[in-house]
Amino acid sequence: MDHYAVFGNPISHSKSPFIHAQFAQQTSQNMDYQAIEASVDDFENTLNTFFKNSGKGCNITLPFKIRAFEYAHKVTPRAQLAGAVNTLKLTDDGLLIGDNTDGAGLILDLNNHHVDLQNKRILLLGAGGAARGVCGALLEAQPSELVIANRTHRKAQDLATIFHDHGTVNAIKFNDLKGEFDLIINSTSASLKGEVPPISPSLIHPETAIYDMMYSNEATAFNLWAKAHGARLILDGLGMLVGQAAESFALWRGLKPGSAQVLNLLRQHLST
Ligand code: NDP
Repeated sequence: MDHYAVFGNPISHSKSPFIHAQFAQQTSQNMDYQAIEASVDDFENTLNTFFKNSGKGCNITLPFKIRAFEYAHKVTPRAQLAGAVNTLKLTDDGLLIGDNTDGAGLILDLNNHHVDLQNKRILLLGAGGAARGVCGALLEAQPSELVIANRTHRKAQDLATIFHDHGTVNAIKFNDLKGEFDLIINSTSASLKGEVPPISPSLIHPETAIYDMMYSNEATAFNLWAKAHGARLILDGLGMLVGQAAESFALWRGLKPGSAQVLNLLRQHLST
């Protein structure tokens, strides 16, 4: 039996053990996957113990993604760009490879919903860890423009600078946003407090797709706002969660599991 886990603090709410158990069953893999709470003072030691006790790989979540980046022996180019690691894999020769699958998870979910990105105008709200994790993957899809808007404008500018060489990316203040967007992604944590970033509904046109990275058993404040202003397609972040897990699983096991069935089961779990 191969051992995998997710490390975070807190971690009891994590859906990852459920998702990976489903993937393992679906693809007949002999593995287990646990949620392990690491103390903030002892994260690295907790990982050392896990890998010494035949751990093969793990996911990392809040607040440890940057420390996992530093812990890895080597990181993938996308993790380098994200500046954070959400997946560690132990190779046969004992190297710990750090990856970041958040951006790929978002793209997988958008693809599953037939959201076209090429030559489209994308607005990314927020400039925290989640935003940085997805910018590379969004730009790889070759939008006509990626606009980043954040409450603290300097952070949006910093992100635009980091990704400058990867496509057309601009930082614009909430108040100065103009024109219409084909896709608006909310990567702020405003929805956690039931708040909506202060942007104009005129940014939405009848074909606009909306993506709130947050998920819950009810529509988020941002998604309710978007619905009231006539967006075409409105998605939450549950699909991204499953998508990033599928990418991690593929990295560890060399097999890409299907997401749709797991997503449906998870949605049912959320509503009970
Ligand atoms: P961070 O703390 O790194 O960043 C939070 C961001 O939200 C910052 O840009 C912050 O702006 C902004 N923000 C916070 N409150 C408000 C507000 N009231 N109005 C406007 N902007 C606000 O968090 P993360 O980037 O790690 O996570 C952000 C969200 O994404 C969370 O809801 C998280 O659950 C979700 N997420 C979902 C994932 C998924 O798989 N579905 C994966 C990762 C994250 P400022 O810079 O000004 O403080």
